[in-house]
Amino acid sequence: MPAFCDVALPVPLDMAFTYAIPPGMEPVVGGRVLVPFRQQRFSGIVVELHDRPPKVKTKKVIEALDLSPVLDEQLLKLGKWIADYYLAPVGEVFRTMLPLSAEFKRAITYRITDAGQMALHLAAMAGSPARSQRTPEEQLVEFRVLDYLAEREGVREQSLRNATRVSKALLSGMVRKKWIVREDVSAARDAARTVKVAVLLGADVRNPVETRLAASPETGQAPSLPAEVEPLLNRPDIRPHTGSSCSAGVSLAVARACPEPAEGASRPRRSPSSKLNDNQRSLLEALAAAGGRVPVEALRGLDIPRTTLGTLVKRGLVELIDEPQDFTVSKTKPRQSPFEFEFNAAQKEALAKILDGVSSRKFSGMLLHGVTGSGKTAVYLAGMRKVLEQGRSSILLVPEIGLTPALAADLHQAFGDEVAILHSGLTDAERAEQWHRIQRGEARVVVGTRSAVFAPVGDLALLIVDEEQDHSYKQEETPRYNARDVAVMRAKMAGAVVVLGSATPSLESYYNAKKNKYALVELPDRVERRPLPEVEILDMRQEFQETGHEQVISRKLASEIRERLEKKEQVMVLLNRRGYSPVALCRACGKTLQCKNCAVSMTHHKRERKMECHYCGHVAHIPDKCAQCGSEYVYFVGTGSEKLEELLHGMFPQARIGRLDRDTVRGREDFERALNALDEGELDMLVGTQMIAKGHDIHGVTLVGVVGADIALGLPDFRAAERTFQLLTQVAGRAGRGQSPGKVVLQTYFPDHYAVQFAARHDFAGFYDKELQFRSWMHYPPYNAIANVLVRSEKLDEALAWAGELGRWFEKTRHEGIRVLGPAAAPILRLKRDYRYHFILKSPSREKMNALLRAMLVEAAARKIPRTQVIVDVDAVWLM
Ligand SMILES: [Zn+2]
Ligand SMILES: [Zn+2]
Repeated sequence: MPAFCDVALPVPLDMAFTYAIPPGMEPVVGGRVLVPFRQQRFSGIVVELHDRPPKVKTKKVIEALDLSPVLDEQLLKLGKWIADYYLAPVGEVFRTMLPLSAEFKRAITYRITDAGQMALHLAAMAGSPARSQRTPEEQLVEFRVLDYLAEREGVREQSLRNATRVSKALLSGMVRKKWIVREDVSAARDAARTVKVAVLLGADVRNPVETRLAASPETGQAPSLPAEVEPLLNRPDIRPHTGSSCSAGVSLAVARACPEPAEGASRPRRSPSSKLNDNQRSLLEALAAAGGRVPVEALRGLDIPRTTLGTLVKRGLVELIDEPQDFTVSKTKPRQSPFEFEFNAAQKEALAKILDGVSSRKFSGMLLHGVTGSGKTAVYLAGMRKVLEQGRSSILLVPEIGLTPALAADLHQAFGDEVAILHSGLTDAERAEQWHRIQRGEARVVVGTRSAVFAPVGDLALLIVDEEQDHSYKQEETPRYNARDVAVMRAKMAGAVVVLGSATPSLESYYNAKKNKYALVELPDRVERRPLPEVEILDMRQEFQETGHEQVISRKLASEIRERLEKKEQVMVLLNRRGYSPVALCRACGKTLQCKNCAVSMTHHKRERKMECHYCGHVAHIPDKCAQCGSEYVYFVGTGSEKLEELLHGMFPQARIGRLDRDTVRGREDFERALNALDEGELDMLVGTQMIAKGHDIHGVTLVGVVGADIALGLPDFRAAERTFQLLTQVAGRAGRGQSPGKVVLQTYFPDHYAVQFAARHDFAGFYDKELQFRSWMHYPPYNAIANVLVRSEKLDEALAWAGELGRWFEKTRHEGIRVLGPAAAPILRLKRDYRYHFILKSPSREKMNALLRAMLVEAAARKIPRTQVIVDVDAVWLM
């Protein structure tokens, strides 16, 4: 064994650190080690093993955490490429690539005590909790907490609070009453949220893991998974039984017969006692009917006393085990299978191209440009299924899985438990569990948001990036990578096919396709030849002249809405700004209410009775007088989605109106509920922000109104036109997806702007040609690489001084061909308490630009400007 290892640590330093390997320890390259670092312990990734003694005295590795690599050679290489391309510390890149932090964090968990069980029992008997000083609401919450804990073991504080909405104070009170206990445990012990599952003993459906952990016959006690076993199950290097594809992750939804484990694992078959009462018998029958394994929670729907299960466990007929909670299958009603569609010629061609590329085992790229409703998803799924049939792997990236519940339903239908879904709603522990499933080769189809591009699949054949232009692929913290571009690089390294799909491709990808870097495949028609909706541009300046006052809903849009409502058709109205009013203005002195942390206006939220900063989340009271001059004439100006909903209620009192924005949607389920309500015809109208523009398929919508479509056109950002064009095209695509043709009414103050004009004509190529011309004149991407260098500090003079120092350094440093603009105040001068100045670099050569940026970082370090205060954003998406 070599004497030293170099370790990449998740710290903001662009280097690896050397540690001595104690005798007997065997760390591996690509595996994790626990090491001391500045009075702390960190887990880092071993990047090299060697015998070169460093000049300074080294510390020793505390523990080697993996026997085999968690990052294989290809992922290590990809991580180094990201560190280099985006100028990010490699240790921070590796940390982003591995969703395993849960395995090392200390975690607080809660468990119910016997006293708590008793309290729960009494409360259930009496119909109300025991007498106490608490309010009825508080007692109800306590009851919820006990009930929740009774079904589970070692519940994390966050999960408990999410599930029961219990306050910290109430929890502490319950701990004092000794109803529950608080435990500080290593999260490695519950690497996944678990559910109790009742298993019928002696049934044919059996899990190899459970077999090994069978109840001890001496005590007859219900076994629980020994604490030391579970982390082992999650170790990629230790599999419970080779030769079986089943794992502890099988839940009711996907329960099916698993092959018996090859090696013995014999267990005495207990013969069911003949003396069973009716309840016991019906419970056993229900278990058998469900394949022998049912989550305890599901059994409660059977109307059988809880004690019955306990009795059956005591008699050795049933055992209770803990299983990781599976990603719950979407509650969306079953849809037509994606494979039942007859593919049109364009879809067939796209699929054939993908499969050709897959079988060649060489890298190839494709831009799949399909108009909204043209059936891109069906092509993806068909491609992924073929890849799976060949025993190879695929990854599908989506902007936000929470926004596409329909896709989740399709995926489960298409791939069963071969699919791993990685979305933002997962806890750290659930994410880790999915990661291990993928690494063990149990899930060869991976669907997820940004970081799913790092999924540790073997033999990657196909990587698809849906809505490739979406800005959520860009991570806005270190490492500031764009998952679309990383996907292309990963496909190159793996010799795989990468498909970038979109109705409105980014300018960069379209340009690459034009330059033949990718094959361009068009899906020009909507499925079943439904026509694209007619778009009417409504000039709001003219509306103002004719009506004499500022309108939110024009007369034309109002009459179109009325017409649809009368015909019992559905309407969507988009206003891409949440809240009630975006500005609180003093009519006496003209000042607006600004966030105390940011140089932006606070937004009025009427229903929640607060002012909120949409940049940092700061919340304040609604002012009754001006903070500057004391005047009482504070007015709320402008319209957000909340006010729009109220206005529409006033105009159409009979209509059932729903709203979809980040204030009404807290999670995937809220989103599904709203869309289902629309789909089922329980709503006549849906109002919302760009959320309503995302890819879902509601057939009853025949009119889309767009209000304030041009807000973005006023922003000082070179991508404003592109963003506006994309948003308008996406939202217009929501209209007329069913039998009746759709119409879009687009209200704007910039009716002549080319982004508005081309979107109205569905003229993608026209827009791109024009926009490319502007980009070329202004030396912006795709013609030049750009980077945004932001210098920030809570102290204004410090931010100014640092920006000045770096500005002078840029001036005197030779950098041929690289344009450096700045230092200038960032468009939002103050954000989250920091004052911000920035430079924008433009360069036809990316290598030269990155070399200059690297030299700049060295200079900044020499001048003692902290690394965290100089942000380098390569391929910046936002210049705000
Ligand atoms: Zn004032
Ligand atoms: Zn703020």
